[in-house]
Amino acid sequence: MERALLCVHCLGVNATEPQLTFLGNPSFKCGACGNLVLHPMSRARAITYLVFLGIGMIGAVLGWLDGRMTFPGIGILVIYALGRDVRLRRELQAAEARFALLRERNDPPQT
Ligand SMILES: [Zn+2]
Repeated sequence: MERALLCVHCLGVNATEPQLTFLGNPSFKCGACGNLVLHPMSRARAITYLVFLGIGMIGAVLGWLDGRMTFPGIGILVIYALGRDVRLRRELQAAEARFALLRERNDPPQT
C-alpha cells in the first residue's frame, strides 16, 4: 500500500510503498535526496517484540534456576531492534516537528 512518508534527511515527502527490513522497519529510498530512510516499526510489532523478550527472559531465568546457562542470542537481536526503534522514533518525531515548522513558515495560517 502506498503511503506518504517523510524523509528524515531532507524532509521530502515520498509517496511510496515501503519495504520491510529484516527486523520489520519500513524503509524506502528518498526520491529527493537519494538516502535510504528507515522508519520505526509499527506499534503492534514493537509490542510483539517486547512480549518475545519477556518470554525469553523468563525462559533464561528458569534455565539459570535449573543450573543451565542459556545463550541469549535472539534476545540480543530483539533488544537491538527495540533500542534502534526508539532512536528511529525520536528521529522521525524530530523530522516531523521540523517539517511542521517549515510548513508554517512557508504557508502561514490565514487569520
Ligand atoms: Zn530525502
